Amino acid sequence: MGLFDKIKQKVASAFEAVSFTKLKEGLEKTRSAFVNRLKSVLGSGRKIDAELLNDIEEILLTSDIGVGTTVSIMNAVKLRAKQDGFSDSSEIYDMIKDEILSILTAVPAPEEDAIYAVNSNDVPHTIMVVGVNGVGKTTTIGKLARNYREAGRKVIIGAADTFRAAANEQLEIWAERAGVEIVQQGHGADPAAVAFDTLKAAIARKCDVVIIDTAGRLHNKTNLMAELEKMSRVMKKVKPNAPNEVYLVLDATTGQNALQQAKEFSKVSKLTGVVLTKLDGTAKGGIVIAITNELKLPVRYIGIGEKIDDLQPFNASDYVNALFEERGNG
Ligand code: GDP
Ligand code: GDP
Ligand code: MG
Repeated sequence: MGLFDKIKQKVASAFEAVSFTKLKEGLEKTRSAFVNRLKSVLGSGRKIDAELLNDIEEILLTSDIGVGTTVSIMNAVKLRAKQDGFSDSSEIYDMIKDEILSILTAVPAPEEDAIYAVNSNDVPHTIMVVGVNGVGKTTTIGKLARNYREAGRKVIIGAADTFRAAANEQLEIWAERAGVEIVQQGHGADPAAVAFDTLKAAIARKCDVVIIDTAGRLHNKTNLMAELEKMSRVMKKVKPNAPNEVYLVLDATTGQNALQQAKEFSKVSKLTGVVLTKLDGTAKGGIVIAITNELKLPVRYIGIGEKIDDLQPFNASDYVNALFEERGNG
């Protein structure tokens, strides 16, 4: 067993609470809307004909996995039906599961995510968190900070959402819950200045991880672009390769609209991954597949509840197993 695997095993045991069972519970609604329907169509030894294929297509289309993704899965199913054929309709079920897994593993998240590791030669590891209002940025930052801290990293949060009056207070509560430090200025302060101060403080206090909250003003795209660019530029004065990560937070309950937001944000910022929140509250969990397939952006973390321990590193095989109700790896 390599060193990395050893560390991984050690940290994995520290995250026992963040279990596969919880993921399964979080995906309950998506499972009943998507997988259970698929099962009822495919599990009954039905004749494999055009009507069956239409039924499958209909289920995929209405499960928020997106038109493009549906088409590519259906093409694979049809190709196999024509070439090798299926001996039983349940084989189509297995094939769809495999197709989804291969879509998700094609855009992998870094292994470091799962163990909250940072490169000690490149600290503070700087994460900027962007997304429209209400998607769960601040909550995600609290959860992420807590998980990094549990893994033994020193974390500092920057309150650069200076736009909303109550934003500082809310982030302060999360910083306290997570047991990490926070840097803030007054309401209306320049977000770039807050980011600058946070990085300076992080270096002075030898922090491993910096997480910067931002205000999501997508309705004013020009301003948002200018603001995010300025923040990155000012951070680079302190650390030339900052930010290391730009996470786009998306609310899974908004389904296809999340995909639209991702397209817009990709135009104004160089995103390195997606955090998908509120999977627990929606039947639209298929959006994970659309995001990965259509944007080629890795889903890095998923939110499956409002509490501080309700954030999990995204793992494609666990996700698929939890969704298709089978045994997981973790
Ligand atoms: P922001 O405006 O993007 O910073 O969003 P907030 O962090 O303030 O979150 C908005 C709402 O979403 C809050 O009520 C959170 O409790 C809720 N929320 C965030 N993440 C999750 C999640 O994973 N599951 C559920 N059920 N609610 C969440
Ligand atoms: P400009 O405002 O577009 O000209 O961009 P600058 O790169 O000159 O600075 C952007 C912002 O970053 C400034 O308005 C400050 O708020 C902040 N900033 C830059 N340098 C410093 C610094 O040394 N200390 C602090 N606290 N903030 C700084
Ligand atoms: Mg917020």
